[in-house]
Amino acid sequence: MRKKILAANWKMNLNLEESKALFKKFNQDLPDQNSLDYIVFAPSIFLHELSKETDKIALGAQNFYPAEKGAFTGEISVFQLLDAHVTHVLIGHSERRMYFNESNIFLKEKVNYARQNELKIMFCCGESLEARDNNQHLEFVKSQLEESLFHLSEQDFLNCSIAYEPIWAIGTGRTANENQIEEMHHAIRSWIEEKYSKSVAESTSILYGGSCNGSNAESIFSCPNVDGGLIGGASLKFESFVEIAIHL
Ligand code: PEP
Repeated sequence: MRKKILAANWKMNLNLEESKALFKKFNQDLPDQNSLDYIVFAPSIFLHELSKETDKIALGAQNFYPAEKGAFTGEISVFQLLDAHVTHVLIGHSERRMYFNESNIFLKEKVNYARQNELKIMFCCGESLEARDNNQHLEFVKSQLEESLFHLSEQDFLNCSIAYEPIWAIGTGRTANENQIEEMHHAIRSWIEEKYSKSVAESTSILYGGSCNGSNAESIFSCPNVDGGLIGGASLKFESFVEIAIHL
């Protein structure tokens, strides 16, 4: 059965006090719904402090470096994340691909490292505007998945969710329409079925991300292959996040 997931990506926002207050409010006041998991991908520096407040909200990291330890100034290891009681990691976000040059090959290393250490993965994929305009969006996303994720064993793959986030819709206020979203989510599920099996495809949560908010959440979540959302801007305030949550 596909789990519904609503995830918040706080990116490089909020201070400690704001993060603690918002995380506490999420834990206390987000609606408890059957089979709906919440995850907050918080700034790394606050993870340890937030872990003291985890209740119904799982804690995720936005980034880590795929090595045990060593001379990687400024980076964070998986073991440091595990010390902070992190259970999930975000891999492949377009901002990491774009600003930090994370390639499909490097993302594969991150995927392997996360699974070797039993972290659950939310893997982001999504096409550029150029690929969309040239009608190459399906090939673009398929190769992201094939090059970084589809080498996993079935057991490891079952510990992954996928977030489809068209790059042109992230933080732009522009959302993909229902047909575009359903076409991609359906395609992703069929590639999972080809690679693994129907039962794996039917157990994988595929989320949509990209300018999702309280006004468009209902129509996005009505797409049959959408199992939740990865939310950036609208996750920074309880009021805007809960308006999305009520539609799941
Ligand atoms: C994101 O960064 O994953 C995202 C979906 O951002 P936004 O909701 O702000 O478009």
